[in-house]
Amino acid sequence: MHRCTKPLLRGDEPVKLTFLGAAQTVTGSMHLVECNGYRVLLDCGLYQGRRAEAYDRNRNLPFDPRSIDAVLLSHAHIDHSGNLPTLATRGFQGLIYATAATRDLCAIMLADSARIQDSDAQFLRKHGKDAAEPLYDVSDVARTMELFHTVPYRRRFIVLPGIEAAFYDAGHILGSAAIALWLTEGDRRVRLLFTGDVGRPTPVLLRPPDEPPRVDYVISESTYGGKIHEPQEKTIEVLRMLLQRVVSLRGKLIIPAFSVGRTQSVVYYLQLLHNLGQLPDVPIVVDSPLSSNATHVYRTHPECFNDAVRRMMLSDPDPFGFESLRYTRSVDESKALNGKPGPMVIISASGMCESGRILHHLRNNIEDPTTTILLLGFMAEHTLGRRLADGAERVRILGEEFLVRATIETLHSLSAHADQEELVNYLAPLRESVRHLFLVHGEPDPQQHLADRLRGLGWSSVTNPTRGETIEL
Ligand SMILES: [Zn+2]
Repeated sequence: MHRCTKPLLRGDEPVKLTFLGAAQTVTGSMHLVECNGYRVLLDCGLYQGRRAEAYDRNRNLPFDPRSIDAVLLSHAHIDHSGNLPTLATRGFQGLIYATAATRDLCAIMLADSARIQDSDAQFLRKHGKDAAEPLYDVSDVARTMELFHTVPYRRRFIVLPGIEAAFYDAGHILGSAAIALWLTEGDRRVRLLFTGDVGRPTPVLLRPPDEPPRVDYVISESTYGGKIHEPQEKTIEVLRMLLQRVVSLRGKLIIPAFSVGRTQSVVYYLQLLHNLGQLPDVPIVVDSPLSSNATHVYRTHPECFNDAVRRMMLSDPDPFGFESLRYTRSVDESKALNGKPGPMVIISASGMCESGRILHHLRNNIEDPTTTILLLGFMAEHTLGRRLADGAERVRILGEEFLVRATIETLHSLSAHADQEELVNYLAPLRESVRHLFLVHGEPDPQQHLADRLRGLGWSSVTNPTRGETIEL
């Protein structure tokens, strides 16, 4: 069903592109395409930053939600999808197009986002501070989910008259897609690719990114435009080594991990060790309700897995389950872990140690020299994860100060984002056809590195637009 009531327009205006978020930053992904009298949003992400500014930007969308005719969603990460409920509850009448896996992940991630906003507001009020109303609640999320319309990968579909699109696997998280658009206005034909977030060329679980179709313009992410990642093969070696240490010290290995993507990758690596007979007999616990729910969604989308995982599933149907692995649900089950001695592995969220059950595990074990804390990848400034990665001797956790006696390890090989070389290779087949490349979803410094590298390879027209900038295509 299509709810758009506008007549079939035969416009003769230029096709326009406006960058509304993730412009020279890595959060709040949102871009507006205007074609043939219609307005289509690419992503509608939550802007995450300083509290007051973030609230203001998220609450006050830079357009009238009723003026938007459709949304094309690249993937379920909250910085890409997290403000859809604001749009949906303030008059947006169109459809949200996404892959089925993205829709299913959004159902749990948006509900989680609503619960976090509610508990943050309650916490602030309890401590006598001003708290803004949450942007949305779980019933708003339910209403948002009604607007989703799912489309498989690599199938071209009509979004609105003059606007066709297709999702191409981006290999970043389950269901993630690059979005190709074929835009027609009067005699003008414009082909546009929005990469969303681009994954690595050989993701551990997912299929590698599809080669994108030839287009005239590209909006590309640039998160790691200035970096080269550690090789992925290192991951299993480091896990094997840390497990041995945990066994010999009878300690705990605590892994703060993002609920979606990172947790499933770590569990899958442990599964591989298990299947090779190389996993020591140590209880392993995934202690985060969102991580458990997300893992369940992963299980229901085998179409997103790569050939190696599919082959393994012929003999082992659950890539995220083995005898010594347990998923906790209740708070009581989580608390009971505190009283249990090592050796033990605890995988919990949040990934940068900012909130969630991980804080209790760190608090209970960080002063114990038999504990190892494994940090996975980039830790943002001002987070507990960053302070641990930087070698802090004392840290504050839930208002109390602790000595860091645990061993801190960091592994950079599990990133779900392509690095500079991988982005350059991903974009390479497009160089001949592309008239202009817009870099988004990156800080200015990595963007500069990536732009310089691309120009050196013959990309003549590369810019990193600012927020609010409109380009006629
Ligand atoms: Zn992402």
